[in-house]
Amino acid sequence: MIQTGMREECGVFGIHHHHDAANMAFYGLHALQHRGQEACGIMAGEQGEYDIHKGPGLVHQVFTDNILQKLKGSIAIGHVRYSVTGGTHSHNIQPFIFNYRNKTFGLCHNGNIVNYRELKRDLEEHGSIFHSSSDSELIAHMMSRDVYDNPITSLKRVLVELVGAFAFIIMVNDELYAVRDKNGLRPLSIGKLDDSYVVASETCALDAVGATFIRDVEPGEIVRIHRYGISSDYFSEERTESLCTMEYIYFARPDSDMGGVNAHEFRKLSGKKLAQEHPVDADIVMGIPDSSLSAAIGYAEESHIPYEVGLIKNKYIGRTFIEPSKHLRDRAVLLKLAAIRKVVKGKRLVLIDDSIVRGTTLKRITRLLQDAGAKEIHVRIASPQITHPCFYGVDISNFAELVMAHTSKEALRDFYGVESLEFMSLDSLAQCTPNRHLCTGCFTGEYLTETFTRLEEASAQR
Ligand code: AMP
Repeated sequence: MIQTGMREECGVFGIHHHHDAANMAFYGLHALQHRGQEACGIMAGEQGEYDIHKGPGLVHQVFTDNILQKLKGSIAIGHVRYSVTGGTHSHNIQPFIFNYRNKTFGLCHNGNIVNYRELKRDLEEHGSIFHSSSDSELIAHMMSRDVYDNPITSLKRVLVELVGAFAFIIMVNDELYAVRDKNGLRPLSIGKLDDSYVVASETCALDAVGATFIRDVEPGEIVRIHRYGISSDYFSEERTESLCTMEYIYFARPDSDMGGVNAHEFRKLSGKKLAQEHPVDADIVMGIPDSSLSAAIGYAEESHIPYEVGLIKNKYIGRTFIEPSKHLRDRAVLLKLAAIRKVVKGKRLVLIDDSIVRGTTLKRITRLLQDAGAKEIHVRIASPQITHPCFYGVDISNFAELVMAHTSKEALRDFYGVESLEFMSLDSLAQCTPNRHLCTGCFTGEYLTETFTRLEEASAQR
């Protein structure tokens, strides 16, 4: 897919008891780069001594060998971030450090606290002063309000008050704490590397540092990693397994497994289902790089229409290069993608995309293919129609932005000027992970947590 300026998922990484912790965090974050390209940071240390480095840019731009060498200690946590339009303010870049009761806490966070404003207002009324608009600072204030010395006790009291989707890694007292919200909306996996434990948003980061996958952090679980191993506790009685479907459809790297299901295999199966549901007579099947390629392979296999590479992505254009000017942003698709004329000219194409959010990216891509001489374009979307906002960190937060919330399929087909446009059904989506329950709130409007305040705000913008 091509970036469009919405907020993406963040990525978190942590490693405990490793002689080269900061370097490992660097490699781990590098593998998680697809989850956020705006800013990144690593905090490393032990025995109460910590160093941190963070800044805007890609992982390899922010961290040089010299900087990594200064990040000493056997414990490290790191974060890659994508912020909403408006840029990254340095005080919002993670990890986030805070001190209380003579302890230094480091915190990295992925997701979204739905009741952030209510909790913040409450804290401010009781004297807290906020320096950032980050969810992490909220946690810091909530923990500092607590009277307990034991981080697990404090964490339990704080986490139970949070509504939303989150995966945290917290570093304190030479220990790491890894936490997932009670519905398991955001992924977080644990691995082992010799005597060290590793925690990461995706298993691709475990692979990158040579760690062996042990298990996922469970919904509502607090995993404590300490010098004698790991121990587990739960902060919520009510727990469900409801990973965000968009993790499989779009966010995760194809080599990552979540809940035992591989993202590439999920996407390939979704392509097969799409072919069964919406067949079409065509010459070639092609996907939009990168996140739609697996689904396109599945569609081609099932339909027996040859798979072709019709679009080439320039992988060397960083997000920050595209970000500064509106003119460049508008041309982002042309800078990032090129059509192979010899492949598409005169052909009837099945064009697979993983999802339609605002609807603008596909307009540019279909035009690119039409200009390259495509004879017919049949668009097939490997997900159901996104008709509802998401409040859990994907930042599709209002109806107005979502083209399928207010446009018919036929109108969008005509806007693209393509021969046909079809989406995968919810039934087919469910068949892609038959043994797992996923959050499908953005397709159905049926949310998992109490999101009334946000819903009312979003409806007002309709
Ligand atoms: P658009 O319809 O122009 O908003 O762009 C849709 C493309 O963005 C799809 O091809 C997806 O790969 C990708 N996408 C899906 N969800 C998101 C999201 N929350 N943030 C950024 N990109 C997304």
